[in-house]
Amino acid sequence: MDIKQAQKISYAVNSAMLVMTIGFALLYILLDAGFLILFSIPTALLYLALYITIYKQKLDVFLWTIYAWLTLYTSVTAVCLGTGYGFHLYCFSMIPCVYTTEYMSFKLGKKSVRSFYISIGITVYYMIFMGYLSHSGPVYDRNGRFSVFFLMFNSITVFSYLVIYTNYLIRSIISSEKKLTEMAHTDRLTGLYNRHYMLTRLSELLEDGSQMTLAIADIDDFKKINDTYGHNAGDEVLKVLSEKMKAVCKGCEIARWGGEEFLILLYCGEDDARETLEKMRGDINAEPVVFDEKRIAVTITVGMSRKQDGQSIDEWIQHIDDLLYAGKNSGKNKVVQEKDK
Ligand code: GH3
Ligand code: MG
Ligand code: MG
Repeated sequence: MDIKQAQKISYAVNSAMLVMTIGFALLYILLDAGFLILFSIPTALLYLALYITIYKQKLDVFLWTIYAWLTLYTSVTAVCLGTGYGFHLYCFSMIPCVYTTEYMSFKLGKKSVRSFYISIGITVYYMIFMGYLSHSGPVYDRNGRFSVFFLMFNSITVFSYLVIYTNYLIRSIISSEKKLTEMAHTDRLTGLYNRHYMLTRLSELLEDGSQMTLAIADIDDFKKINDTYGHNAGDEVLKVLSEKMKAVCKGCEIARWGGEEFLILLYCGEDDARETLEKMRGDINAEPVVFDEKRIAVTITVGMSRKQDGQSIDEWIQHIDDLLYAGKNSGKNKVVQEKDK
């Protein structure tokens, strides 16, 4: 949320407060509650003055003033009319408001707000005025006149706020957790899984007896590509190859293992895996990557194997890396498994 958006929301909140203050004032007239009618005047004037604060973008001043005044307003009305009118309920909604301000300060990189202590302060204040009210009774005894209307209106306002606010909060937490998990598992350049994800996935699957083949693909002479066409061209090659690998091997999981190395997990036996990997190698070999109107010929070498009994993940990866190395030493642009060595 940027400052302009926050300003718009503040204008809306302030206007709602002003309208409510005027509306309540009219009802206080009907109730003949003299002090509350008078108290509505500075309240309305304060909200009018807060428009200037919002206009000057002093939103923290706006928020703290509104929190403080609202707490005072609810306590004054509760003491004057009693709990039957539901004004004391607004105190509960102050707690999430205060914590939201702490979060906003954090987002804006401003000084941290001590929401916890402020919340305790509000709680103590609530106990004091409610204690006084229980002991002395309301200032105006109006035999519950209009109390149903006030209680329903104030309850609906407070509950709606709490439901909407909590719902928004939880949705935001879920969506940001999803985003963070995705970021933690993804390589930024290629959009493939990263090394961390693949290692976690492999150790999860270790217990599983299902058929799997692991392959490591390495771009041939990639350093030369970088040296000849530039680093940006190299990056483009990595991106295009990642897309091609994903397109050929839809059911498998592919991670960027290192600079120009990819780890491919295929959920099938060696024969089917070989067929897929040969197609992948062939497709990459057949069509050069175009960057800046230049056609860059690219090939890959692949080492592949299913997991041998008793092999650890590290040993399995080391094994396919050895096969890759054998492929590099025997001409590159090929898929190598144990029997080819
Ligand atoms: P080989 O055929 O034996 O695999 O040779 P190679 O040149 O591909 O391998 P080498 O390990 O000598 O070079 C890898 C190069 O990959 C060196 C490094 O600068 C480059 N590289 C690593 N990560 C990136 C990257 O994210 N972008 C680009 N453009 N280059 C990268
Ligand atoms: Mg290479
Ligand atoms: Mg390499």
